[in-house]
Amino acid sequence: MYNACDLPRPVVRDSKSNVSTYSELDWVYRVREELDEALAAETWADKGEEIADAITVCVSWLESLGFTERARAELFRRVNAKNQARGYMEEK
Ligand SMILES: [Mg+2]
Repeated sequence: MYNACDLPRPVVRDSKSNVSTYSELDWVYRVREELDEALAAETWADKGEEIADAITVCVSWLESLGFTERARAELFRRVNAKNQARGYMEEK
């Protein structure tokens, strides 16, 4: 199983710690910007980095809405259970 060193968590604050002031459209713009960069990436490594950037923005967005790390873990448990029920995940 992975530990925190193997699988670092995304950073959830920007350099000015002002994520709580972002509007919903600010978040959507930032996610879209990272996905556009992923589409334009020319190497496998660059594409991975841009997708990771998009994930970081999404985790930061959840944090700004009040989803703590514990709440996010519960959120992903529910999403995984939903996706498993829909047949989108491998059986355990
Ligand atoms: Mg980027």
